[in-house]
Amino acid sequence: MFVNCCHCSWCRRETGSAFVINAIIEADRVILTKGEVVRSELPTASGRGQAVLRCASCGTALWSHYSGAGPKISFVRAGTLDDPGQCPPDAFIFTADKLPWVQLTPGIPAFPERYDLKTQWPAESLARRTAAQASST
Ligand SMILES: [Zn+2]
Repeated sequence: MFVNCCHCSWCRRETGSAFVINAIIEADRVILTKGEVVRSELPTASGRGQAVLRCASCGTALWSHYSGAGPKISFVRAGTLDDPGQCPPDAFIFTADKLPWVQLTPGIPAFPERYDLKTQWPAESLARRTAAQASST
């Protein structure tokens, strides 16, 4: 639905890198094809927390559920995909915390902290998000 590139200090610490790339998609479209995941609860900049699902074998963070979006929305770590190039960021967020040597891509919206979903997400993505959150599965 949308791809966030987050530069907040929590994402930096949790990835051990300069930022995280989260591809936001309906949770029921994320299918575990092999292995197992383990869940850990981690803090976020908002203070509301997130549940991170990791590969039980190697510990790599695969996706998470943020308290704000709820359990029916998954934030997939795009760097773990077979072709991460298919998920370029739609927005840079928490750029106030970005490391000084990171250069943002011109033309991609950048925000010091969060953005307003209603003004940044395409209407189709907003409709998908609403439908997913309202679903009973
Ligand atoms: Zn973050």
